[in-house]
Amino acid sequence: MNPALSKFSRVDLCHQPTPLEAMPRLSEKLGGPNLWIKRDDCTGLATGGNKTRKLEFLVGDALQQGADMLVTQGAVQSNHVRQTAAAACKFGLDCHALLERRVPDRDNDYETTGNVLFDNIFGTTIEFRPPGLDMNAEALQIVEKLRSQGRKPYFIPGGGSNEIGALGYVSCAFELLDQFEAQKLDVGRIVLASGSAGTHAGMLAGLHVAHSNIPVLGISVRQPKERQINAVYGLAKGTAAQLTDVPLGIESVQVDDGYVGDGYGLPTKGTIRAIDLAAKFEGLLLDPVYSAKGFDGMISLIQDGFFKTDKDVVFIHTGGSAALFAYETELV
Ligand SMILES: *Cc1c(COP(=O)(O)O)cnc(C)c1O
Repeated sequence: MNPALSKFSRVDLCHQPTPLEAMPRLSEKLGGPNLWIKRDDCTGLATGGNKTRKLEFLVGDALQQGADMLVTQGAVQSNHVRQTAAAACKFGLDCHALLERRVPDRDNDYETTGNVLFDNIFGTTIEFRPPGLDMNAEALQIVEKLRSQGRKPYFIPGGGSNEIGALGYVSCAFELLDQFEAQKLDVGRIVLASGSAGTHAGMLAGLHVAHSNIPVLGISVRQPKERQINAVYGLAKGTAAQLTDVPLGIESVQVDDGYVGDGYGLPTKGTIRAIDLAAKFEGLLLDPVYSAKGFDGMISLIQDGFFKTDKDVVFIHTGGSAALFAYETELV
């Protein structure tokens, strides 16, 4: 473990290092740079995904504070809620989640299958909310109520994206730099799906602390570019400040919002194409909300010649396949 992170409370949840694998068939098909995939869909914890790394630090902090339960929020098919529910069970904590009905016009089983099925298996108590509320504020109200009842709730914001959770992706950045060296990669860019911003921000903070200048391109899955840049920058700056006095500049935050489509959780034709290509050429499962939107961005940009001068390009597979079950009609 990198000594920079040793001052933070942390629990052991993640299968790490996750593999960094080549995608030779897809690279050849697209005729672009050598494509690599960081298998953070294989982090462990209830079918894996990027929230495992964040939860190592968040649950570490919760236990340190003497919490007896975790309270969090997300969209109905939140991978973050599913992984938080699993982590709570592993450490003997209760879990309460607020699920926002953020995605319109879903099938009947959208609220029972996929991630929600897993939330229920882990015994998480769930409350649904209509779309458009300030969900962190809603969850904080519940936290206050639980406190007044004598509970010791630990609040985790949506996506686990705060300066503690983002440390999980500082750790991933360090891990990647070791792998680039060991596998002799010349990486021109790292590409990832950018949502609640903790993954993107943590990655930027980690690379900054390690003095790497490899650019990171975040493909927005929800917000317009300027808002996403501000969200990522605010979190990246604060995360880095816990580890170094050298300030992180906003110019390192790169966001492309061209692949969101009609909105969060609504797959586009390009999203479906990305799922199809990753599956049929590399045997990989992407998800319709996050990783396939990110992947769509990467392959579309390859076709536009964006990565012309790059030898190796690395995509972070952030997981999410559990949500595929909630999108059956769009996929097959
Ligand atoms: C949460 C999530 C993301 C986005 O990560 P953020 O840290 O929220 O930006 C990407 N992919 C999957 C599968 C996720 O569950």
